[in-house]
Amino acid sequence: MLKRYLLTPGPTAVPPEVMLRMSQPLIHHRTPEFETLFAEVQHGLQWLFQTTQEVLMLAASGTGAMEAAVANLCSAGDTVIVVNGGKFGERWTKISQAFGLKPVEIKVEWGQAVQPAAVAAALQAHPHTKAVLVQASETSTTALHPVKALAALTRDTDTLLVVDGITSIGATETPMDEWGLDVVITGSQKALMLPPGLAFIALSEKAWKQVESATLPRYYFDLRRERKEQQKHTTAYTPAISLINGLSAVLHLMQDEGLEHLFARHALLAAATRAAAQALALTLLAQTSPSPAATGVFLPEGINGSQFLKYMRDRMGVDIAGGQDHLKGKIVRISHIGYAGPFDVITAISTIEMALRRFGHPLELGRGLRAAEEVLMDGWPAIG
Ligand SMILES: *Cc1c(COP(=O)(O)O)cnc(C)c1O
Repeated sequence: MLKRYLLTPGPTAVPPEVMLRMSQPLIHHRTPEFETLFAEVQHGLQWLFQTTQEVLMLAASGTGAMEAAVANLCSAGDTVIVVNGGKFGERWTKISQAFGLKPVEIKVEWGQAVQPAAVAAALQAHPHTKAVLVQASETSTTALHPVKALAALTRDTDTLLVVDGITSIGATETPMDEWGLDVVITGSQKALMLPPGLAFIALSEKAWKQVESATLPRYYFDLRRERKEQQKHTTAYTPAISLINGLSAVLHLMQDEGLEHLFARHALLAAATRAAAQALALTLLAQTSPSPAATGVFLPEGINGSQFLKYMRDRMGVDIAGGQDHLKGKIVRISHIGYAGPFDVITAISTIEMALRRFGHPLELGRGLRAAEEVLMDGWPAIG
């Protein structure tokens, strides 16, 4: 038997109490019982997004909410500014192109955060920009973009700031209303500790106004229709009932922990992982603005990343993520988002140390672990 550990930045592990909740017998969605459940999770989501706006739930993966944002806010030929610093930034470009928009890309080196000045310059060069599309946390490079600073640029203009918060909501401070984010998106299989299948999207007043005048075609993802139904605590189409039931359990777990502790836990696990990588002389991909969702590190020269990950997964039972595109085979990404604790970091680091040794990389076993433990000690209060 091989005991398995899922330490990827989506899908993430699901807590046992959430699994149990989702295995309850189905209830019908056009019932008062479902409406009560729906109203409760709507409330919880507003707390999580730190907004007074409605947070709409869609039966889709996260990309569905990205597409919904574009389709509901834009008209054909609109200019949008895309911050493209990784795989998910690139996705904004592809969605925009698919809908006949004119994306102006700000290319950011993978692992780096966008410079607000670059966005300011692009806005100046394209004053009729409909929206700036960005990731708060670019999961493919494990870097955080400074969305608070970007919101300061768009706040008093006609341009909207659309934030893919799929690995930032529930992992790091992203207060929608306070920062003036116009659209915030997340998905179920990252910080929300659920299986994939739910996407979430919240819009500011300014964004809702834009929805009225936008002319791109939309049907399944027509947010006007969804909003009307969700205001009555139901959905336009059959919702992912079991996932919404699980979401209720998740939100209780999160509310019991509290946002401040939730963010502090992610920050601590990320700091411990980075300390371990540094102790092992592994170069971090995101040096200046690392995400608390996952940590990307370069493998030593000469190690085949695909074989390395396969060995970890198939022989050691530990699933971490690799790199994409030009970083494929070169990096690994260790997740610490969602249902993650200190011993997930320990597991990941220990496995990496032993696998590196197996692959012939000379290292002192326990070196990374010790560095991680030194950081993790801060997570436990003194005895007494
Ligand atoms: C996971 C992820 C997505 C895409 O989500 P899917 O659920 O695979 O559609 C988009 N953006 C970011 C930042 C992500 O981490």
